[in-house]
Amino acid sequence: MTLCLNIINHSVKLEMALQENLSVVLHAAGDLRLEQRAIASPRSHEVLLKINSVGICGTDIHFWNDGEGAGFAVNKPVTLGHEFSGTVVKVGSGVQHLKAGDRVAIEPGVPRDNDEFVRNGRYNLSPTCFASGLPPDHGGMCQYYVHDASYCFKIPDSLSFEEGALVEPLSVAIHACRRAEVKIGCKIFICGAGTIGFMNLLVAKAMGAAQVVICDLSSDRLKMAKEMGADYTLKVEKETAVEMAQKVKVALGSMPDITIECTGAEICMQAGIYATRSGGVLALVGLGHEFANIPILHALLREVDIRGVFKYCNTWPVAIDMLAAKMIDVKPLVTHRFALKDALKAFETTKKGLGIKVMLKCDPSHLGQ
Ligand code: NAD
Ligand code: ZN
Repeated sequence: MTLCLNIINHSVKLEMALQENLSVVLHAAGDLRLEQRAIASPRSHEVLLKINSVGICGTDIHFWNDGEGAGFAVNKPVTLGHEFSGTVVKVGSGVQHLKAGDRVAIEPGVPRDNDEFVRNGRYNLSPTCFASGLPPDHGGMCQYYVHDASYCFKIPDSLSFEEGALVEPLSVAIHACRRAEVKIGCKIFICGAGTIGFMNLLVAKAMGAAQVVICDLSSDRLKMAKEMGADYTLKVEKETAVEMAQKVKVALGSMPDITIECTGAEICMQAGIYATRSGGVLALVGLGHEFANIPILHALLREVDIRGVFKYCNTWPVAIDMLAAKMIDVKPLVTHRFALKDALKAFETTKKGLGIKVMLKCDPSHLGQ
């Protein structure tokens, strides 16, 4: 009888809890609202997740400010959030590898069709990719969220939910370093000491880079870059791109084999071409404008390969294993935490450029890491 009552109480509590789904919804540029949204039921290949931690990304701020960003436009209300982790609450009938209670990191980009890009192993390039939190697809800045089970990856108990959420920006860096072909002993120039620049620093070092120089406008960020393993830092003042390249060469003792551009600033793209050793690679990660004025002849004559980097592909298992093996430590990147109900304050904090990574804590019973 007691057991039966307990079960009834439990299911009533779950039912009540499931009615609450506070969500961060962007209606249009500048119009970000906290509102309740319906909770979807998982289809056979999906899982219902109780979201724990969600990182706020520069792209979210672009959407909020401009109603667009990264080639996506907000044309109808959309729940933001693409850096997230949580716990499985319910599994669809066809899901074999997950069960209720599993803690997972969520890969937001899910290809919808088995098209040529999926077949050749570059599913990030599929034009039909579903992308949580990138309009028009809803994301994970909410309490409950349904996702394709194949794109939810179990994290071990040794990893925090925040580390699980940081697998997304870490994945950007793993993909960038793979695209740039980072090798043991190479020298690297990273433009931008934001989350993405830091992640590239950590991954490049883990992949065997001998020396990394990183540049930024902010002394505070460069101080942190040093603490996170940068060999040299370059505070950008009023240098031309050629002068920046020269300073990079002096710092490293020779030109870098690889530049990873993580600002989107035109001058950094220019400096990346001038700085990179002949035959090297310039990987473009930062999202700049549609057109850029760059010294293309220098890239041509010195065979500097300019490679685009778009999100990630097959990176979640690698990222989780690297974190679990303590090959890299991403925890210091989380500088601010806010409860989901304070999401607007969290967005303001991110917009002001305070700290590095701002985390939204979506489970009111678990506001820690
Ligand atoms: P962020 O704003 O936290 O960091 C950018 C850093 O660049 C800042 O520290 C800023 O001070 C620095 N910076 C700006 N202009 C500079 C200049 N002229 N010289 C030197 N430093 C300069 O952003 P983030 O989250 O680290 O993201 C970095 C970029 O990567 C953004 O453009 C973002 O949209 C992009 N991004 C791309 C992908 C992709 O798939 N390609 C994925 C995620 C993010
Ligand atoms: Zn992002």
